[in-house]
Amino acid sequence: MRGTILYAPGDIRSEILPDPTIVEPTDAIIETSATCVCGSDLWPYRGINTFDEPWAIGHEYVGVVREVGTAVTTVRPGQFVIGSFIASDNTCPHCRAGYQSGCAQLAPVLGCQAEAIRVPLADGTLVPTPDTPSDEMLPDLLALSDVMGTGWYAARAAGVAPGHTTVVVGDGAVGLSAVLAAKELGAERIIALSRHADRQVLAREFGATDVVPERGAEAVARVREMTGGVGADSVAECVGTDESLTTALDCARQGGGVGFVGVPHDVALPIARLFRNHVRLQGGSAPVRNYLPDLISRTYAGNFHPGRVFDLRLPLADVAQGYRAMDERQAIKAFLIP
Ligand SMILES: [Zn+2]
Repeated sequence: MRGTILYAPGDIRSEILPDPTIVEPTDAIIETSATCVCGSDLWPYRGINTFDEPWAIGHEYVGVVREVGTAVTTVRPGQFVIGSFIASDNTCPHCRAGYQSGCAQLAPVLGCQAEAIRVPLADGTLVPTPDTPSDEMLPDLLALSDVMGTGWYAARAAGVAPGHTTVVVGDGAVGLSAVLAAKELGAERIIALSRHADRQVLAREFGATDVVPERGAEAVARVREMTGGVGADSVAECVGTDESLTTALDCARQGGGVGFVGVPHDVALPIARLFRNHVRLQGGSAPVRNYLPDLISRTYAGNFHPGRVFDLRLPLADVAQGYRAMDERQAIKAFLIP
């Protein structure tokens, strides 16, 4: 089967690899119907996250169950399923509290830029859709596997509630998804920090009422000005740099909430500022599994199209082109067809 190996920074190749097989009785093998490139895949691709050996990359997937291990009871061959990028048992205390990405048994789902994948802890991880979806639905459903689920968590962790003024820091695919999440969760005013024209357009389509092209202290000053000097009720931080987290914290009002989902790279937490501003802070890798049933329902209900973050469609064999386009910001997110 075709898969994707990252050999070294900038050196990504589509190759024929051995088919995955059941290793644990709790595993399932999925034939992917679609997969994609994540913004976080660019960290190792750019050499910012280092690694020693070539590895099978990709962690977003939807597809049809080919085979299940003997202990699997909730999914069966032939079913169309979506799962998170983190496998979880969905039964431990952390999962039951809604934090499946902190599962006591958590395992990463790897090598998903491929025609077939092995998903551990299939019962806890995979959620079947109501039917086998049309090809037109695949981008929306694939987005739930990570990017939309992560944007959703950013908004939830920020405490977005009806009537809120919400700021979204970051206009990558996750930031844009957080705009859509804020809209769905009832935010009244959504201020997207974005300086790229194509992303500003999508941010507005997803529900942004205002776009601020400035960054850093200038962006904070603009948000303060737009909110009568008060700041935002909730802020989603979707980048992961020291500047973006500082911007997010400074945009929040007294007692506001900041949800951070950008993987932190060299971030120092300004605890004195948190003390002064009474800001609530929650972040981490998103418990996508927690949100899948709700997000699948919203997608099937129509009028919810998180798949619009995909602005480049490629055959899986051309995966390298997808990385290049995203690295050079020619594309927001690349959709790959096995
Ligand atoms: Zn668990």
